[in-house]
Amino acid sequence: MSGYDVVVCGAGVAGLAAACALGALGHRVLVLEKRLMPAPVAKGEVLQPGSLAILRGWGVTDLLERAGAVRLSKLVARAADGRPRMVLDYGRLPTDQPWLLAHDYPSILEALTGALPSGVEVRRGVVFDQPLWTAGRVTGVRSDEGDIPASLVVAADGITSRMRTAARLSTERHDYAHRLAAFELAGADTVDRDVSAYVTEDGLRVHYPLPRGRVRLYVQVAPDELRDLEEDGLRRWAERVLGGCPGLAPLASVFRDGLARKQVLPASRSLADSLVVPGLALVGESGHSMHPMAAQGMNSAIADAHELATVLRQGGSLAPGVVDHALRRYDNARRIDLGRVGRVSHNAARMIISRSRLAQRALTGTGRNDRIRHEVMHTVSGLGVRRLTLLDRLHQLGLPDPRSTRLPTWARAR
Ligand SMILES: Cc1cc2nc3c(=O)[nH]c(=O)nc-3n(C[C@H](O)[C@H](O)[C@H](O)COP(=O)(O)OP(=O)(O)OC[C@H]3O[C@@H](n4cnc5c(N)ncnc54)[C@H](O)[C@@H]3O)c2cc1C
Repeated sequence: MSGYDVVVCGAGVAGLAAACALGALGHRVLVLEKRLMPAPVAKGEVLQPGSLAILRGWGVTDLLERAGAVRLSKLVARAADGRPRMVLDYGRLPTDQPWLLAHDYPSILEALTGALPSGVEVRRGVVFDQPLWTAGRVTGVRSDEGDIPASLVVAADGITSRMRTAARLSTERHDYAHRLAAFELAGADTVDRDVSAYVTEDGLRVHYPLPRGRVRLYVQVAPDELRDLEEDGLRRWAERVLGGCPGLAPLASVFRDGLARKQVLPASRSLADSLVVPGLALVGESGHSMHPMAAQGMNSAIADAHELATVLRQGGSLAPGVVDHALRRYDNARRIDLGRVGRVSHNAARMIISRSRLAQRALTGTGRNDRIRHEVMHTVSGLGVRRLTLLDRLHQLGLPDPRSTRLPTWARAR
């Protein structure tokens, strides 16, 4: 089997994004994937403006828009009755695409596949096993189709990454104590074009519109809450969800109709101690995971791919020493941003999910402080990480802030 410049292991969002980015540099890229078709999973559907800017450069945003993707203008944390408690108004962002874009996960993968440059080959139905090593450096991949040499290996094989383990890159994964039950509600075109997250006594409820008049609804559940529930039990459970969240009333009838088609998904957070070894880089959930509340996982995977291509382009060749220097720069840059984005996602999840007085005060304080809200939105949007100071954190918890109505310069300019 002849050599490739790059072998990408996995064709989820991270792998396909890496193939788009590295293929655009003119490299010969092979993508290996065990699945014959993308899994119809109810995850990774909301793209942030930072990702849209990158995806536009690859031609993916246009494909998604043509495939009916829905633009969402706000991220709103609400009380259980629907009253807004904190509004992130994306229209204020300093970008020419100041909105979120929502589409089904398989459609996002399809758009990425449709935009792959001509030098990229995707081979499905292939299982990879481990990296090939030469003198302490990764020089290819072992798969069930044989050994495939390459100048660079990109591990994009998800949260349980076999490649990460085989490359001896360690990570500590913290699983959240809850799961998210996902429902796809058909015929529900009455909801606003925003992401609405409800804070209720029983945890998080989130909805947003999807193409063709559908709505995605996530309901926070305990790990065994829905296990073995028959039709009647599920119906009683749904009435409890609706009773505890009056803001969901407009969706009540489609929720009752859509109960049978549910998926229950776990949430976790992690960041590998290093994202690289010589000759190999981790992208996407092989290297990091975060709570879905702030819609950052897939967006971080796209940013990984973009950064990896940037440092490799600056390196100028795929000679081993040049690649390994570029990989160290990738690791430095991404681990700092991922640490910050991971903390933002974790804090956002805590503010919405935790019933503690501190978490609720933080939500109220952030909701009332225009300045801090805009800084948080800038980070969440993927346009650049804005650090909150210790004083900002105290303002979030209720310390009066004389600058609370003074918007950052970028927001004032719009
Ligand atoms: C409920 C929920 C909602 C979410 N919502 C959002 C959101 O709105 N926005 C957002 O940005 N993120 C969101 N996320 C996170 C996002 O879905 C993930 O971060 C993203 O999908 C991870 O992509 P990945 O390519 O890294 O991994 P994966 O999607 O897991 O892809 C890994 C691929 O590698 C393949 N593979 C693995 N091992 C092998 C092997 N040995 N041989 C061959 N192939 C292999 C797998 O088949 C798979 O296709 C959400 C997550 C959850 C759970």
